[in-house]
Amino acid sequence: MKAVRLEATGKLFLREVERPVPAPGELLVRIEACGICGTDRHLYHGEFPSKTPVTIGHEFAGIVEELASGVSGFRVGMRVTGDPNIVCGRCAECQRGRVNLCGNLQAIGIHRDGGFAEYVCIPQEQAFELPAALDPLHGAFCEPLACCLHGIDLADIKAGSSVIVLGGGVMGLLVVQLARLAGATRVVLVTRSEEKRRLAIQLGATATADPSSGDIAVRLTAEGGLLPGGAEVVIECAGVAETIEQAPRLARRGGTVVILGVMPQGAKITIEPFDLLFREIKLVNSFLNPFTHGRAAALIASNEIRIEPLISRRISLGEAVEAIGNPARQGEIRAIVVPSLP
Ligand code: NAP
Ligand code: ZN
Repeated sequence: MKAVRLEATGKLFLREVERPVPAPGELLVRIEACGICGTDRHLYHGEFPSKTPVTIGHEFAGIVEELASGVSGFRVGMRVTGDPNIVCGRCAECQRGRVNLCGNLQAIGIHRDGGFAEYVCIPQEQAFELPAALDPLHGAFCEPLACCLHGIDLADIKAGSSVIVLGGGVMGLLVVQLARLAGATRVVLVTRSEEKRRLAIQLGATATADPSSGDIAVRLTAEGGLLPGGAEVVIECAGVAETIEQAPRLARRGGTVVILGVMPQGAKITIEPFDLLFREIKLVNSFLNPFTHGRAAALIASNEIRIEPLISRRISLGEAVEAIGNPARQGEIRAIVVPSLP
C-alpha cells in the first residue's frame, strides 16, 4: 500500500510499504480521509519529537476492513474515526482521570503509523463509530473537534454567556460553533482575514473584529465597544504571543481565559499578574482530548457542526508530501488527504 513516511527531519516520502496486519484487539481501517494539521508540519521540521521512520497523520477516519481476534462491537464495513492518543491507563495521571497528561502517551501518526496511508491499524479502544451516511471527509474533523470540546468544557460557558474567540483557523471556527451550541449568545471572533471573519458569521459568530488596527482589547471592551467590560469567556486559538497576551485583557472581571493555541517550546510572553489577581481572571490551558473523542464523533454524526466550509482542498497521498513540507496555502483552512484520489 502507499504511505507517507517521515524518515528523518525534512525527509518525507511517498513509499510503497506492506499493508499492516492488525494485532489482537486491533482493527484494520481503510483510510477515507486524513486532515493535515500544523503538528504534521512541526513533525516534518523536527520541531516536535516523533519516532522515525513513521507514517504520519493523526486526524483520520475510514472503513473497518478487518477485525483481529478479541475485537468486539465493530464489524467489517463500519465507518470509524480514530482517537490518535493512546494512554496507558495505569500511571498516576491516568488513575486520577487526567488521561491527556499520561506520562506514557503514544500517539498514532507520531509514535506509531498513522493515517496518511491507504490503511492503518488501531486498537479498538481508539475507534468510534460514525454513520454510514456521513460525508467521509467529515470524519477527519473528529480529532480537532475533540480538542476544541475539551477547551469548551474548561471554559464553563453558560446559557447567555459572552465569548471572544481569538484566531480564525480550524480550531477558532470550530470553537465558535461549539460556543453557540454550549449556550453563548454573544460570540465575537477576532482574526485578521476578512474571508474568515465572513465565514465565522455564517457559522454562528454574532460579530467579528479585525485585530490589525489599534489595540483590540481596548476597542472591544471600552464603553461603546462590542463587549463593554470584556467577555465572560475568552478562548485563544491562534497560538501567537500577541493573542495570548491579549486574552486576559479581553476578559471581564471574574472571567475565564482558555488557551488552546500552542507556542513554540521556550517562548515567553508578558502578562500582568496584578491585573489577573485584582480582576480574579481564571487562566486555564487546554491540552488534547481527554474523553472527548466519542462526543466529537457523535457531534460530527449529528451534522450540528458545519464542516464543509472548513475543507479548502482534497489532495492525494502523493500531493500530501508537498503540502506537509510547505506552509499552508494563503487562506487555506484545512487540506484533507483522500487516499482514493489518484
Ligand atoms: P491555524 O489554522 O494556523 O489557525 C491559527 C489562526 O490564528 C490563523 O488562521 C490566523 O488567522 C490566526 N492569527 C494569527 N495571528 C493572529 C493575531 N495576531 N490575531 C488574531 N488571529 C491571529 O491553526 P489551527 O489548526 O486553527 O490551530 C490553532 C492553534 O491551536 C495552533 O496553535 C495549534 O497548534 C493549536 N492546537 C491546540 C490543540 C490543543 O489540544 N490545545 C489541538 C490542536 C491544535 P488570521 O491570519 O486570519 O489572523
Ligand atoms: Zn492535529
